[in-house]
Amino acid sequence: MEQNNKKSNTFYAVALKGMVAYPKMVMHFDAAREKTINAVERAVKGDGYVFLVAQEEIEVEKPTEKDLFKVGVVAEIKQILKLPDNVVKVLVEGMYRAEMTSLTDEGDVLLAQVKRVPTYSRSKYNELEAEALVRTVKDIFERYTSFFPKIPRELLSAVMAQSNPVKLFEAVCFNSNINYRDKQTLLEETNIIRKLTLLATFLAAEVEILELENEINEQTRMSIDKGQREFYLREQMRIIQEQLGDDEVDEVYELREKIIKLKIDEKSRDKLIRETDRLAKLPSASQEAFVIKNYLDTVLSLPWGKYTKTKISMDKAETILDDEHYGLKKVKERILEFLAVHTLNPDIKGQIICLAGPPGIGKTSIARSIAKAMGRKYVRVSLGGVRDEADIRGHRKTYVGAMPGRIMAAMEQAGTADPMILLDEIDKLCSDIKGDPSSAMLEVLDSEQNCAFRDHFIEVPFDLSKAVFITTANDVGNIPSPLLDRMELIELPSYTAEEKFHIAKDHLIPKQLGEHGLKGTQLKIADDAIDDIIAYYTREAGVRNLERRIASLCRKAAKKIADGDAKRISIKAKDVEKWLGVHKYTRDLSSDKDQVGVVNGLAWTAVGGTVMPLEVLALEGTGKIEITGSLGDVMKESAKIAVTYVRSIADKYGIDKEFFTKKDIHIHAPEGAVPKDGPSAGVTMTTALVSALSDRKVRSDVAMTGEITLHGKVLPIGGLREKTMAAYKLGIKKVIIPIDNKPDLEEVDDAVKNNLEFVFAETLTNVLENAII
Ligand code: ADP
Repeated sequence: MEQNNKKSNTFYAVALKGMVAYPKMVMHFDAAREKTINAVERAVKGDGYVFLVAQEEIEVEKPTEKDLFKVGVVAEIKQILKLPDNVVKVLVEGMYRAEMTSLTDEGDVLLAQVKRVPTYSRSKYNELEAEALVRTVKDIFERYTSFFPKIPRELLSAVMAQSNPVKLFEAVCFNSNINYRDKQTLLEETNIIRKLTLLATFLAAEVEILELENEINEQTRMSIDKGQREFYLREQMRIIQEQLGDDEVDEVYELREKIIKLKIDEKSRDKLIRETDRLAKLPSASQEAFVIKNYLDTVLSLPWGKYTKTKISMDKAETILDDEHYGLKKVKERILEFLAVHTLNPDIKGQIICLAGPPGIGKTSIARSIAKAMGRKYVRVSLGGVRDEADIRGHRKTYVGAMPGRIMAAMEQAGTADPMILLDEIDKLCSDIKGDPSSAMLEVLDSEQNCAFRDHFIEVPFDLSKAVFITTANDVGNIPSPLLDRMELIELPSYTAEEKFHIAKDHLIPKQLGEHGLKGTQLKIADDAIDDIIAYYTREAGVRNLERRIASLCRKAAKKIADGDAKRISIKAKDVEKWLGVHKYTRDLSSDKDQVGVVNGLAWTAVGGTVMPLEVLALEGTGKIEITGSLGDVMKESAKIAVTYVRSIADKYGIDKEFFTKKDIHIHAPEGAVPKDGPSAGVTMTTALVSALSDRKVRSDVAMTGEITLHGKVLPIGGLREKTMAAYKLGIKKVIIPIDNKPDLEEVDDAVKNNLEFVFAETLTNVLENAII
């Protein structure tokens, strides 16, 4: 055949519309035009060869020489298949590239004079460049085929395995559907490097178009879906309405309209619509209809997709915090840092502050200020005593009297989906057989899960991730550790009398005056009166009772003024007892006489630091040890250690060595109903024991704290700031603290440091020397 062709340079010509043939490429085309059919049929009768050449414009029906490209392919006809309507399907294989020198129109067929030309030039090429091109083309081809899931995998792997530039070119070119003009350009080019470069360019453009097409399709599909869905839902409603035609349907219709408008995901929307379907079918007076109606009303009242979207101004935030709270310098700094992070990244997740400290210290009001500074709605959720998981997560709606849980209720109350929610007293969550509320809480706080929080009542997921959560706790030790791990702890220390004075003067009094409709000129509370109220009517770490006392003064004053008994009232220290009754506390609660067996211990409780006297009495007996005053296990152990240690030093203090068989020892901590625990009473117990057994007095102006070892070493303790403050407030002169706590002195208030003498004890000997007379 090849031989034959070489002799003959004239072929029947076939003008291809929108396609280009290549040497070695097997392809088929449909012949429908008369001249094409004739050319094919006559060629088949002859040597079976035709000259395939693309026409420049597809629309041209009767192409002449000028309408055709010059370069084409001489191809062998492999098979023809006659189809109805005078169409012939022709299968050909390209043989070689040829350039048309002239074209003659025979009337019923076209004849082309051609010259054979090589497909690839023999010029040398840069191997590295070719390699790079091969890789590029493969990459693009892979992306290209990803748009055609039906392309056989074998084809792709065959192409990917190709490293020969020519073979790769052919494999890719024959299997890609690129524009015929580009294909013609590729046919005309003979340099393999340029051929591959062009191929890569054309294919990349094709991929880009495909990507765009995909995107457009997706968008139109979505808009059609949404439109159709709404249409369908409305249509369905219209039919129900026609059938029933009464007010209830109007109600259901309204519900549907609202659901359709809700900013909610499709799945949830479908679920809600299904509920309205059920509602439409139920008699309106039925219990079930009531349940569904209540359910839908509750869901609709939630702030789906509603956001406050305010920017935080750091200057404003600082002003708000400073204006509303006295002192708390470190706490404010930490909060401003937290706000700064929020300003830089408003979408930051998983930042949960836990404000920890005794009651009345300002945790709740600080949280409210944070919400104000962030421009968020503020809602407080009290967790104290919550023991049922359903409190957090709601009851299923089929349950009688079911309601959403506290979190969703808070969302409804806020009216926006990005409020600041204060989870108050998170340390008071309890778990029992009704389920573990802390695990539900964990889900609320976990930034991975809370974007689709499921309340049992609401059923459809709600996004909590935009809300800011702040928690408060009195005792961090009671927070379940998985919860604590998620929180950033900010501890609020107890206030000194000095701080309380300023808080009362600058904040509590103006606030209470306002609440009782009084003007500053009508009621004046003198500074010394404030001091007296703090000292004799309150004993607390915070200022809650102080505020109550002030409120009580305001109430009484308001009454007097309203009754016309006075116009202006001024309360001084000497008047306070008249207004508030006799002193509730004495300034000095600790024992004011040096006594045997009574020692001032320093303790740290939920209400802050206190001075806790400890009493020991040793009586003739048989060696029993009695411990009373609600002492915890750790304290009981301290007592045992103390007894053993005292035995070891009995000689030094003239104590009968056999006391533990001859004497009954009673250890008691007054205020018996208040539970006390912790190891820091070790030194106090030992001192009281030594005093009781040796019959030597203990100084009443000394207070102490410290854990002990069997060998009489004194170990460090916590809460130094609060404990020493309590000592100071109660008029103690000297405090004995463990030597290892010396660095903590930095946290202790200057007023306390200046008025107390500190003894740093390394061993019990140091303690006893300073306390026992
Ligand atoms: P907590 O939540 O810690 O129990 P609250 O926030 O309820 O305490 O505080 C009790 C009262 O004391 C509130 O009226 C609060 O405004 C006020 N208060 C507490 N600390 C300060 C402070 N540093 N400056 C001004 N007012 C304070």
